[in-house]
Amino acid sequence: MNLSTKLFATLVFFLTVSISYAQEKFTRADTLRGSITPEREWWDLNYYHLAVEVFPETKSIKGTNTVRYQVKKAHQVLQIDLQEPLRIIEAKQDGQKLEIQKEGAAHFISLPKKQVVGSFEEVIISYEGQPKEAVRPPWDGGITWQKDENGNHFIASSNQGIGSSIWWPSKDHPADEVDSMLISITVPKNLMNISNGRLVKTETKGQTKTYHWFVSNPINDYGVNINIGDYVHFSEKYQGEKGLLDMEYYVMRDNLEKAKKQFMDAGRMMEAFEHWFGPYPFYEDSYKLVEAPYLGMEHQSSVTYGNGYQNGYRGTDLSGTGWGMKFDFIIIHESGHEWFANNITYKDVADMWIHESFTNYSESLYLDYFYGKEAGQEYVRGTRTRIDNKLPIIGRYSVNSRGSGDMYYKGGNILNTLREIVNDDEKWRKILRGLNSEFYHQTVTTAQVEDYISQEAGIDLSSFFDQYLRNSTVPILEYFFSDDQTFNFRWANCITSFEMPVDLNLGEKKVRIEPTTKWTQVTLEKNSDLTVDVDYYVGSLKVR
Ligand SMILES: [Zn+2]
Repeated sequence: MNLSTKLFATLVFFLTVSISYAQEKFTRADTLRGSITPEREWWDLNYYHLAVEVFPETKSIKGTNTVRYQVKKAHQVLQIDLQEPLRIIEAKQDGQKLEIQKEGAAHFISLPKKQVVGSFEEVIISYEGQPKEAVRPPWDGGITWQKDENGNHFIASSNQGIGSSIWWPSKDHPADEVDSMLISITVPKNLMNISNGRLVKTETKGQTKTYHWFVSNPINDYGVNINIGDYVHFSEKYQGEKGLLDMEYYVMRDNLEKAKKQFMDAGRMMEAFEHWFGPYPFYEDSYKLVEAPYLGMEHQSSVTYGNGYQNGYRGTDLSGTGWGMKFDFIIIHESGHEWFANNITYKDVADMWIHESFTNYSESLYLDYFYGKEAGQEYVRGTRTRIDNKLPIIGRYSVNSRGSGDMYYKGGNILNTLREIVNDDEKWRKILRGLNSEFYHQTVTTAQVEDYISQEAGIDLSSFFDQYLRNSTVPILEYFFSDDQTFNFRWANCITSFEMPVDLNLGEKKVRIEPTTKWTQVTLEKNSDLTVDVDYYVGSLKVR
């Protein structure tokens, strides 16, 4: 590609991006949902007690959420979100009814009591109504009201994207995770409710039964879930890096035998991911796999499962290489999120690559652990046909906007490329484990993750991340031999600051070069078999 076509391509790219961003209209509601408003900023979530009764016959719910928080800054108005058609009945502090100004889903609650910095306060919110039904769970979430094959109710929540406030009143922004949570769900007494954390108590009253689940670790609000049905339970103990881990399985009564076989993948997953990422982050809360009436979701310590008790993604291999049929996609992928999404959580959904790129990559590391490095890398390369390269992976900040779907397959390929750059598999594993200990139970920005990797790799990867996360073109290595001994090369189709080492295969020999966007020469014997290492997600072009 010559300079003018390159300029043209770049121009077209920028125009495409600006046009599609311009078409993407953000509203005041997006800002209220996606930003840290002054009414959210001043208080730090400490504890929720969500107590909800679910009425399957009328598809309605009624309950309270007790919100305990610590005052960080003097302020007298607190924002709580709840989406229509649900409605807040009242909010109280110290028994006193509070005034509420409603703007869409945002509820601005005035607090007459002086909010003293450092003190802990509570607001109790009562609410009721018929929550939005999920259209296409888990992507277009809400509540799924279904029946199992025996005619029993089978109900579940799923709300990543649409937000926890689709079914309960919450601080619906990812930056502030609650430190612990009690979830008390009342259901008809012939049914069970499975939520996050550990079952601490059940109470039967008349025709209903209440299940109290306690989460002792910080939890992202989108991970909080209910799963109601005619469940049966089995379990195993896993001897892991932090001791004995309870692994609990809840499935529909008729699926028990299938589940006992298929869920063997959960123990294998735990072994592989503790190796790559470090200890499972929620030993205190146990690990659970819970059958749900939709495909599945990374709900913290109660990963939901609906992949039909078969390997692959709904029985198909996303990589087209055959390796994708070696595992149950939903068990491996959704559980991978326990490290990247639940342990390390984005502060803004624009940085969703922190969840999805690493978790997509985890699928290949599972294969790597059991079938070898080449199996894992072949799987990653196989997913390249699913990459669009149309929009950047990072979305718009503060408006609840996620980046492009390339955060999945391209994300996996970016991380596989990074492994090649680091060129030391033990060091690479140390970085993956280091991320999980450095940002243990935290919400983070992309800058924190990028800086950590650069620092631990000992390489300045800032232009690498700018290129692969904030732009959508794929760098092309342009090269030629100007004589029998002189090799010329540069990066093209990329940002001008881009620099990245890359490995060349010359027959049996491997040579590392360090191209920038300027032509560089090295002494290298002319070789017509020259190829670029296939695990780098780049293009290559012999220009003469
Ligand atoms: Zn995912």
